[in-house]
Amino acid sequence: MKKEKKRGQPALRSPLGEEGESFLNKFDITIIGGGIVGLATGYKIALKYPRLKIAVLEKEAKLAAHQTGHNSGVIHSGLYYKPGSAKAKTCTDGRKQLVDFAKQYSIPYEICGKIIVATHQKELPGIERIFNNGIQNSIEGIQKIGPDEIKQIEPFCAGITGIKVPCTGIIDFVAVANKLAELTQKQNHENKILTSHKVIGFDKKTDCTDVLTNQGKVSTRFIINCAGLFCDRIARLDGVDIKMRIVPFRGDYYDLIKQAQDKVKNLIYPVPDPQFPFLGVHFTRMIKGGVECGPNAVFSFKREGYGKLDFNFKDAWESLTYPGTLKMFMKNWRYGLGEYVRAFSKILFVSQLQRLVPSINKADLTPGNSGVRAQAVGRDGKPIDDFVIESRGRTIHVLNAPSPAATASLAIANHIVSLAAEQFKL
Ligand SMILES: Cc1cc2nc3c(=O)[nH]c(=O)nc-3n(C[C@H](O)[C@H](O)[C@H](O)COP(=O)(O)OP(=O)(O)OC[C@H]3O[C@@H](n4cnc5c(N)ncnc54)[C@H](O)[C@@H]3O)c2cc1C
Repeated sequence: MKKEKKRGQPALRSPLGEEGESFLNKFDITIIGGGIVGLATGYKIALKYPRLKIAVLEKEAKLAAHQTGHNSGVIHSGLYYKPGSAKAKTCTDGRKQLVDFAKQYSIPYEICGKIIVATHQKELPGIERIFNNGIQNSIEGIQKIGPDEIKQIEPFCAGITGIKVPCTGIIDFVAVANKLAELTQKQNHENKILTSHKVIGFDKKTDCTDVLTNQGKVSTRFIINCAGLFCDRIARLDGVDIKMRIVPFRGDYYDLIKQAQDKVKNLIYPVPDPQFPFLGVHFTRMIKGGVECGPNAVFSFKREGYGKLDFNFKDAWESLTYPGTLKMFMKNWRYGLGEYVRAFSKILFVSQLQRLVPSINKADLTPGNSGVRAQAVGRDGKPIDDFVIESRGRTIHVLNAPSPAATASLAIANHIVSLAAEQFKL
């Protein structure tokens, strides 16, 4: 048995009163993590195998409390991703499923389209690369546009050339996550979504596993690890020797003040640097109203640290003693330092935004939300670009599900269900 020890953590407590002895319940499949990937997986398993008993264990008191509830809320089209990659395949499929799901269950969304713009000659090859990707990925309706059309779509934008992506949209991912949870429980009344249940260890038996939580044990035949920022730790608790580590990258946003919101109609994105898995600071109209500007990508000393100065010793130690992080820092120190400085300097943040919309000024922005991305990094120091999902014995581990995993969640879930059918012989 492997068990994560944490100072100050309450002893394993039985709901029946006797320490460490009781079972909350017995399940066929237990999913760790109540973010959109875990919940979409639970929902798809419940649809395909309505007789199986499913539990979703979420450590927070509410669902979608981390990446799913701290993202840009964009339904990505799928044009950025390497043709043939898991991201390319699942993003387009997931987007279509997501829109159908939102229509069916009256979840707020809008297909408002976006533009990606080059503001300098040196970015023109980037526009070509992304456009060709989009064509290969069969993204509907994409079009190259010149400065006049850019001005018609976004009158304040300074792009010299760009790509119009009509099928991009905006959505409330937290509402999607909550609806998935509701439907999973409706499908089989024995399915349970257990919030405030932090997984702290596993006790493997011959034909089942006891999942140890801060509220007692859950006995299960199979496990699916969808723990986002902690998926690598859960995999290690399960005894899996994984060849990557989650390195957290915080993204800060500013909000446009009300008087400046007419400078952005919908979504304006820059040409991303292909060396990095991040899209660059952009403007996003939000489905609940307002316009967000960001996010940057700054190494975070805490996996769930949303403040600029947040620090957690264990998280920082794990990241900084991992050879992959050090290699990544050495290779990209100039970029990393730039992002770090910009995180503390509003003027520098504004200057990045001004490349897209020159009339934006410091007074137009107020500090907004932030999110932390779970970015898997290999031992060679390279950020792992594609989704990584691995199965071992009675467990499936989702080890890398960064953006666009919220858009792709329903398609990722289909993939996990197929894997589970094969691996678990469902
Ligand atoms: C700043 C930012 C912007 C983004 N923008 C977009 C976007 O616009 N569009 C898009 O498609 N994607 C976007 N993404 C990516 C997207 O949000 C993520 O890929 C997606 O939410 C991942 O979902 P998840 O369920 O894997 O992770 P999470 O949402 O992080 O869920 C994992 C859950 O596991 C729980 N957990 C962890 N450890 C334990 C434990 N020991 N026991 C029990 N529970 C545990 C956590 O509390 C958490 O709720 C963005 C991400 C960030 C951070």
